[in-house]
Amino acid sequence: MEIHSLASGSSGNAYIIIHEDKALLLDAGLSGKRTIAGMAAVGINPALVTAILVTHEHNDHIAGAGIISRRLGIPLYMTAGTWEGARGNLGKLSEDKIHLINPKEDFVLNGIEVTAMPVYHDAREPVNYIFNTGKGRAVILTDTGCVTDAMVAAVNNCDAMVLEANHDIEMLQHGPYPWSLKQRVASNKGHLSNLQAARVLAKLVAGGKITQAHLGHLSAVNNSHEVALAAVTEHLIAQGMALEPVFHSLKALPRHSPGPVLQVK
Ligand SMILES: [Zn+2]
Ligand SMILES: [Zn+2]
Repeated sequence: MEIHSLASGSSGNAYIIIHEDKALLLDAGLSGKRTIAGMAAVGINPALVTAILVTHEHNDHIAGAGIISRRLGIPLYMTAGTWEGARGNLGKLSEDKIHLINPKEDFVLNGIEVTAMPVYHDAREPVNYIFNTGKGRAVILTDTGCVTDAMVAAVNNCDAMVLEANHDIEMLQHGPYPWSLKQRVASNKGHLSNLQAARVLAKLVAGGKITQAHLGHLSAVNNSHEVALAAVTEHLIAQGMALEPVFHSLKALPRHSPGPVLQVK
């Protein structure tokens, strides 16, 4: 299994999960045109994409979902709450293209067992997805204001992950956002800070089998690649984890272009 990021951040999120010559699109926050161009840039034939998984109804995750579903003739998977929140912004879709998922029931797409994990975000019924090929597991963990012990336990078996490192707390506090937006971002239904991400990663290193992590959904205003990577690496060093494989895999995903690839068995 390979996980490609086409773009990661509040101006649009889209990831491609490739397994056994087929692909899934995880979130479709870019325009149809940019998504197809992104697939071409990473060498993926759009005809191999069999479904779109949606995490939640915010525009940076669904802006292109309707048009891509229509253009490629592929179904959308999401929770009932996300469908309620998103349906007004997806254009016309036939009912047979909408698959409502129950986070309590795993499902299989392209030979991958998919688990939907509820997350803490200011959307109706947001989830993240865990992908299990039977040989390896990966998760894209973003758009959550906190990571509970239950969530850590749920992703503890993952070999690879995209981990949200949205903001540096100081930059957010002293930055240009209005007070209400600062509150929203920092709340436990907002986005993970660099330090929260670092602590989650350290827990997974201590208790799990994570070997690769890329930082995602970085804020353009309240973070930078350098600041996010420094925060996470400093924390891992302080925990005595500088020799761990995941330490050397750390990279930050670009906001507007394809990024480094996660490789999982
Ligand atoms: Zn988002
Ligand atoms: Zn969101």
